[in-house]
Amino acid sequence: MLIYDLDFPELTKLLKEWKEPAYRAKQVWQGLYQHFYDTSEQFTTLPKSLRDKIAEHFTFSPFSVKVVQDSSDGFTRKTLFELPDKNLIEAVLMRYGDPADNPQISPSTTGRGAKNRRTLCISSQAGCAMGCVFCATGQLGFKRHLSSGEIVAQVMYYARQLKAQDEVVTNIVLMGMGEPFHNYENTMAAIDRLNDADGFNFGARRFTISTVGMVPAIKRFADEKRQVNLAVSLHAVDDESRSAMMPVNRRYKIEEVLDACEYYVMQTSRRVTFEWALISGVNDTPEIARKLAAKLRGLMCHVNAIPLNPTAGFSGKATDRERAIIFRETLEQSGIPCTIRMRRGIDIAAGCGQLAGAETKK
Ligand code: SAH
Ligand code: SF4
Repeated sequence: MLIYDLDFPELTKLLKEWKEPAYRAKQVWQGLYQHFYDTSEQFTTLPKSLRDKIAEHFTFSPFSVKVVQDSSDGFTRKTLFELPDKNLIEAVLMRYGDPADNPQISPSTTGRGAKNRRTLCISSQAGCAMGCVFCATGQLGFKRHLSSGEIVAQVMYYARQLKAQDEVVTNIVLMGMGEPFHNYENTMAAIDRLNDADGFNFGARRFTISTVGMVPAIKRFADEKRQVNLAVSLHAVDDESRSAMMPVNRRYKIEEVLDACEYYVMQTSRRVTFEWALISGVNDTPEIARKLAAKLRGLMCHVNAIPLNPTAGFSGKATDRERAIIFRETLEQSGIPCTIRMRRGIDIAAGCGQLAGAETKK
């Protein structure tokens, strides 16, 4: 069994069954989430017999590293992991705000308070069932849900790597492979585990969940009043074009998605982010920007526009920089804040699912 699949009460219960003293659970927990140990021998505060027992019952990694790719600008690292059942998942580390960063790039990509950000983009599923046509993961189809421990393990993998360079993870986004709200329980369990103050202690506000727009889950998330940031992938202002790009829209129409977002803002007093992949000539015109602004007016929100990452299975092209800026300015003139995100690590196919897609085809 994967050790990261246990929450603290489960670990406590197990050690009690093993007739260990109560304080052992905390020692194991701290070894895992504060020291990032990945072998049982590293738990030197534990007696040898217990270390052996842990080694016998648990694994510390649910995957093997299949490919590591660094972008040519050196800011992005993508890792392709292979799970024991041969399914592939991806997780990406993005570095922002290094003094060595290209000053041409930094201001537009970092924004406020972004100094020395180490953002992890992790996966919640192998593949995805939602079938968005522009998305490499969607093109792969659904393989399976990840367990909470498999989600946690992606973070621990990079945390360990960063620690070796005296660095820490500062932000975690659920924007890798999969739809986190389709795997709601495991995703939230993973966030709770990483959030635990006696363990990894990663602040709720430094997580962002991105959803394709699953309305009941957005409402549930709102009711739970979590401090975790919410991003909703919109990409179109009218149902016809959204349904053509995102099959989920046939089930949950734009108005319903926006109503759920309004409910979220009401419940949490938190701003919602809308994701917008800018596709040349499709959803990047000033007219569409104005329509979008009209739709979002009055909602506490922000638009994250990112030029499309071209994928093998979709013919759309990325909007160029100039048009992207016009799109942003048009939105902002109508009172909707907008950021254009740089496509990071495009040379390593940072759009999640692309590396797994390429490997699957080999
Ligand atoms: N399933 C979730 C989270 C994973 S996708 C969701 O869809 O929101 C993370 C983000 O990347 C989403 O906003 C998604 O629409 C976007 N995306 C997917 N493929 C893309 C591509 N080829 N180019 C740009 N953005 C893309
Ligand atoms: Fe799934 Fe998100 Fe890709 Fe759509 S964009 S197919 S929901 S991962």
